[in-house]
Amino acid sequence: MVTTHSLGSHRLGEAYRQVIDRIAEATARVGREPKDVAMVAVTKNASPDEIRALVEMGHKDLGESRVQQLSQRVAVMDEFLSRRRKLAGAAPKTGAPGAPGTPVDEVRWHMVGHLQRNKVKQVAPLVRLIHSIDTLRVAEEVHNFAVRSDRIIDVLIQANISQEHSKFGVALPAVIHLAEQIDTMPHMQLRGLMTMAARSDNPEDARPIFAQASDLFNDIKTAKIGGSGWNILSMGMSEDFEVAIEEGANMVRVGRALFGEPAADPSP
Ligand SMILES: *Cc1c(COP(=O)(O)O)cnc(C)c1O
Repeated sequence: MVTTHSLGSHRLGEAYRQVIDRIAEATARVGREPKDVAMVAVTKNASPDEIRALVEMGHKDLGESRVQQLSQRVAVMDEFLSRRRKLAGAAPKTGAPGAPGTPVDEVRWHMVGHLQRNKVKQVAPLVRLIHSIDTLRVAEEVHNFAVRSDRIIDVLIQANISQEHSKFGVALPAVIHLAEQIDTMPHMQLRGLMTMAARSDNPEDARPIFAQASDLFNDIKTAKIGGSGWNILSMGMSEDFEVAIEEGANMVRVGRALFGEPAADPSP
């Protein structure tokens, strides 16, 4: 067990550094800074050990696409972090807080998958950002929850630009209207857009999709919808995040490049 775990986190450490390097190279190509791109580690195919190892490396932003898995993982990580805090309280501190590689005592969860209205109550208390608002009705449900719990909830609108690919997301021409509606809800902070490109062997196939999302993001910014909070463009996954960064993404969502391919079906 011990051997497997340390081998596993070694491999993960390598993969993590590679993703960080790829982000740095992509930002350099377009004259941007690595610190301007946030990376959400999508943990849907990660083991709890791998998530803990990543957090030990100092990573804070974690994403899940399924509600049940999100709840389970949040609980596991809360437990882990509270144990860490107790240990840290008992031992002298090493390193400055927030310094690279310093173990963190908090994580930020992102809901990146489709959100049904009847799951809002379960998801909203657990996450820092919902990436997948795609109807007025789900936005209203989130807003109602925010009012009841007296907080402001940060959300992205999921734009469906490559329409043959996904059944979720708002069609391009309807995005601005939904953005205006959310912007009138006092307990919602509209932060930006999320989009997904179709999976393809060639990451260049995603470029026109990301370019359109970027144009739309800038149009909405120019129209001052969302105000100064409108500043997140979440696009790019394991295969295409460099193209997304070149086209203006400032948040990428990476799963397989960190944690490998999902385990094959164990049944014989
Ligand atoms: C799984 C998932 C990702 C990560 O995809 P990879 O191809 O594993 O990097 C990103 N965004 C969403 C919405 C996902 O469901």
